Amino acid sequence: MVAFIGLAGFVTAQTSPSTPPSSAAPRQAREHHDPTRADILRGGYGPYRANNDLLFYHLDIRVDPEKKFISGKNTIRFKMLKDDTRIQLDLNDAFRIDKIVFGDTQLNYERDSGAVFVDFPETLSAGQAYSIDFYYSGSPTQTGRFGGFTFGKDPAGHPWIYTACEGIGASIWWPNKEQWRDEVENMQISVSIPNGLVDVSNGKFMGKTDLGDGYTRWDWWVHYPINNYDVSLNIGNYQHFSDRLGGLPMDFYALSEDLDKAKKQFAQAKGMLEAFQHYFGEYPFKKDGYKLVEVPYSGMEHQSAVTYGNHFANGYLERDWTGVGISPRFDFIIIHESGHEWFGNSITAADSSDMWIHEGWTTYLESLYVEYMYGHDDAIKYLNGYKSKVKNEEPIITARGVHGEPPADQYFKGVLFINTLRSIVNDDKRWWSLLHDLYQHFKYQNIMTEDMVQYFNRRTGMNLTPIFDQYLRHTAIPTLELKFDANGSAVSYRWNADELEFQMPVRVGNRGQWQIIRPTTRWQTMPTSLKRDEFEVATDLYYVNVDKL
Ligand SMILES: [Zn+2]
Repeated sequence: MVAFIGLAGFVTAQTSPSTPPSSAAPRQAREHHDPTRADILRGGYGPYRANNDLLFYHLDIRVDPEKKFISGKNTIRFKMLKDDTRIQLDLNDAFRIDKIVFGDTQLNYERDSGAVFVDFPETLSAGQAYSIDFYYSGSPTQTGRFGGFTFGKDPAGHPWIYTACEGIGASIWWPNKEQWRDEVENMQISVSIPNGLVDVSNGKFMGKTDLGDGYTRWDWWVHYPINNYDVSLNIGNYQHFSDRLGGLPMDFYALSEDLDKAKKQFAQAKGMLEAFQHYFGEYPFKKDGYKLVEVPYSGMEHQSAVTYGNHFANGYLERDWTGVGISPRFDFIIIHESGHEWFGNSITAADSSDMWIHEGWTTYLESLYVEYMYGHDDAIKYLNGYKSKVKNEEPIITARGVHGEPPADQYFKGVLFINTLRSIVNDDKRWWSLLHDLYQHFKYQNIMTEDMVQYFNRRTGMNLTPIFDQYLRHTAIPTLELKFDANGSAVSYRWNADELEFQMPVRVGNRGQWQIIRPTTRWQTMPTSLKRDEFEVATDLYYVNVDKL
């Protein structure tokens, strides 16, 4: 998703009054509250989630724009991992559960703060696969940062209906196992809508069927694992155009009046795909194709159907996003949201506490795009522009097992941290192969930070754990303390960090002729001919504070 609440919820003038309210100003402080029962049920991986493994969803719903009403079912197939009689699913309380059916049996269930505990009349056996049909109906709540589920209208007055539910959760509009650890292996999405409208969902378009009652069903097939919040429908008066990159189908959907602008702006998608394929390997969802879909909010990484609302202009909502003159060269939303196909959609964090795996990495992918297109120096300049956005008020990794969202530092501090890792590796050839192999190793998996740290340690032969911990699990960044001796011939140095075993090489001395020193948290001394004011630290390559004592 996009970076912070003010911009992310930005509403363009062309949208109807029913689009989500927004604040033009970024949030100043995060609200802290004790987790509610809903936060715990939602964020935890309790016994009735852990006892099963998702295999497949078929979400099959009818959307009535007039009544602002949806109805239908989700067929949920899962394999039991242990014998049990109960599983936990989730559906927002705004919906009615019409029935939950298992073969010929209608199942009992218990609703609790958004969770739905489903009971089976007999024990389900470990190792066996089962399927239930979860029927529901109601009017979805328009809520959350991006609207959740919005019944809107386009400027010409046609229905424009879309979902964007990261954070607030997919159960705001459909029943599912609402967590990040477990994904279905594939999914079918069937959306029935009034004739004449178009639905764009995730996956490969399989065809449409006239239902004979004024409605047409649009069928999509997702060939890959998909996380719940990525599942999306976009219903509107869309025009379609297409392209290819090698064997990869590229499909684009824009409102009629925006078609010419879209054809021009969406041409950037090819260069983006080439750049990310260069660093990480093949686009992850080849069988589903790559799609860009116009929406009225800024954008979202909906898997294989990235949604786009960046005004068909470069920068981020027509701003120079990192403020150093490079952001206006490309469309931020095309680059950022599509970067999530590799980090966020293919590699997914197993708990939202570790969401920096999505956002820190994808922000780093922005700088890789800049490097691929414009070279190393512009990439370093671009990402250092993020420094002014970092708050360092709380750690990037938040409490596990409780629904919540990490602070925006996961983006800005995240990219600066990853750039620091590159400088620690200090060998670009190794760095590029490490990035490529990291992605290939973890693709289509749900991982935690520990998995990534272990991989880095193994590949570099270094113990990077205290460095990851300092940047991700503490509020402060490390400070390099420097003490110059009175006669100007030596400097003493050490890290001031929360991690007692923190040690990190860093380039110091003269810009252009950097010398690498290896400070720890204990004082060391070296000779220098540089005076206090002349002695520099490569703070564009390492995200650190410098304190000349
Ligand atoms: Zn993002």
